[in-house]
Amino acid sequence: MSVPTPSAATQAFISQPIGLFINNEFVLSDSGNTLELNNPATGEHVASVAHGGISDMERAVASARQAFDDSEWSRMRPRERQNLLWKLADLMERDGQVLAELECLNNGKSAAVARAMDVQLCIDFLRYMAGWATKLGGSTVEPSLPLLPDAHFHGFTRREPIGVVGAIVAWNFPLLLACWKIAPALATGCTIVIKPADETPLSLLKLAELVKEAGYPAGVLNVITGPGSVVGAALSSHPQVNKLTFTGSTQVGQTIGKAAMDNMTRVTLELGGKSPVLVLEDANLEEAIAGAAQAIFFNHGQVCSAGSRLYVHRKHYETVVQGIAEIANNMKLGNAMDPSVDMGPLISKKQQNSVQRFIDQGRAEGARIVCGGESFGPGFFVKPTVIADVKQDSELVQEEIFGPVLVCQPFDTLEEAVQLANDNIYGLGASIWSNDLAAVHRLIPQIKSGSVWVNCHSALDPVLPFGGYKLSGLGREMGEEVISAYTEHKSVLIKV
Ligand code: NAP
Ligand code: MG
Repeated sequence: MSVPTPSAATQAFISQPIGLFINNEFVLSDSGNTLELNNPATGEHVASVAHGGISDMERAVASARQAFDDSEWSRMRPRERQNLLWKLADLMERDGQVLAELECLNNGKSAAVARAMDVQLCIDFLRYMAGWATKLGGSTVEPSLPLLPDAHFHGFTRREPIGVVGAIVAWNFPLLLACWKIAPALATGCTIVIKPADETPLSLLKLAELVKEAGYPAGVLNVITGPGSVVGAALSSHPQVNKLTFTGSTQVGQTIGKAAMDNMTRVTLELGGKSPVLVLEDANLEEAIAGAAQAIFFNHGQVCSAGSRLYVHRKHYETVVQGIAEIANNMKLGNAMDPSVDMGPLISKKQQNSVQRFIDQGRAEGARIVCGGESFGPGFFVKPTVIADVKQDSELVQEEIFGPVLVCQPFDTLEEAVQLANDNIYGLGASIWSNDLAAVHRLIPQIKSGSVWVNCHSALDPVLPFGGYKLSGLGREMGEEVISAYTEHKSVLIKV
């Protein structure tokens, strides 16, 4: 069967010159430079987008500042902000197929999965945050003030939008990571300048078109494409930016965090991970095998919370390892515009080489390559790989590989399982596979990670906050908790 071609609407979007999005207009970069995008599954040219520099970023921040300080947007009532978010979600629903195809062409991920997962989660999250727009309350309190015993006071707090948000995102979920930042910014009344990864700007630029169509005032959302080391760094240290929110590597997150501190810019960091999957003695093995395979191979392993370290009770170790390998061996790799393909390519040659280096290192260390272990082209493919009998102190176990590579070890006791799970610099997610409620509840508080999933993995929902312990980040996205990341909490005391 030949690979389906993208829809006419998608082709129309990528065949026009695509600019930066500033003040509700697509514009060229000051330098006139463009960024050429190729399909990671085929190497074929996909589109050209304007490639921004520092002066473009300055224009975008000025536009966001103006929109925040003095505009229709700053005077808009919560109800209208709610309605605009609903409108934007409806437009994403209408153009869901285009958005999903852009993700596929630009990132290599499955178009069908992107429509069902990435785009749908964006729509759901926009609607969830739309509900919050009208519920951003403070509280009333009764102060005591010991030095003024006879005076009367009225004390209350209010939530105010934090201001101009600077957002920088990675390439693995280009649209979803952006919406996790855009939706709370728009719900709370902030304005935003967002920089996609240079590999994957297309879906976000399409979203910008929908933001304008939905009726957002000019300057509320601005998109700047350009190199992170230039545009991203300048955005991070910009004094007119009140809040920075970043999804990417721990290394860049640390740089951004330090830059933010110079201006006391508020900061949220969603960083790397090396999430453990614990299969306990009583687990339903069929479910655990399928779930562990999904935990590592979903999105080709390019997931911050991917279940990339597997720890199995020794009694079932070989069964689970072989079961996951069998699933891996049956996966169809290829251009994921084809809905029958299970796994597309990695994002780039650089990523393919980096993942292959880890696999080769495992081989050299004497670990057992149970399946996969190879890269191939054209395109940047790595076969889904299971590596057994690795050593806990190996870089394969300690470092984020960010590809379809699972490392496996057995354990004997629950204490040992917890110790192995926590023995890592990251703490983003973990899953426990078991029906022994007592054991599960004993483990949950002991696992040092922002999320713990039981009999599922990387299952995300707008109602639950998401973020990391340890070097996996700072702050939380989603859930009620995200409101505090996009607002200042003002205390008011009135002597009456
Ligand atoms: P990355 O190199 O840190 O890049 C992420 C973003 O930061 C890109 O937009 C990049 O721009 C920009 N950037 C690079 N250098 C910068 C600098 N000096 N100042 C400001 N911005 C800069 O990460 P990646 O390799 O693309 O993404 C993979 C990483 O993201 C993994 O570690 C993964 O775990 C993490 N991640 C975390 C989560 C989470 O929610 N915790 C979710 C997804 C991914 P350019 O690419 O345009 O240069
Ligand atoms: Mg990049």
